[in-house]
Order: sequence, then C-alpha cells, then structure tokens
Amino acid sequence: MARAVRYESGREEVWVSGDILEEGDYAQTLDHESSHLRTWRDFGTHVHMHGRQWRKSCREMASALAACEETR
Ligand SMILES: [Zn+2]
Repeated sequence: MARAVRYESGREEVWVSGDILEEGDYAQTLDHESSHLRTWRDFGTHVHMHGRQWRKSCREMASALAACEETR
C-alpha cells in the first residue's frame, strides 16, 4: 500500500508499506505517488485523483508507463 499526502501547510509526504519491497515494484510505486505530488503542485489539489492532469504528469515523469495505472 502506498499513498501521497499534501498538507495545507504545503508539506508533502509519500507513504510506502514494506510489502511493496517484496513485490518488487518499489520504483514504479514511488513514480506513481510522486506524480500525485507533482500534479497537486502544478494544478492544485482539487483535480481528480487519477484524472487527465495526473495521467499527463505521470507519463512525463515515470520511468515506466506501468506506474501510471490507476489501481496502485
Ligand atoms: Zn494514485
């Protein structure tokens, strides 16, 4: 399990649970969650979680398109 958080203060965090390490897709998970942070920086926090702004950000910054699947 993983998630990105942006607080009203502007502080940003990415949480990744340990089982991600065993599943072997740590880099893709970080790319996915980091793209949420970038989307919020670029477009604000009121965009759809996995909407077109996020897909654009993810495709631009992820090293593999598999990171941009919505189900992560
Ligand atoms: Zn996501």
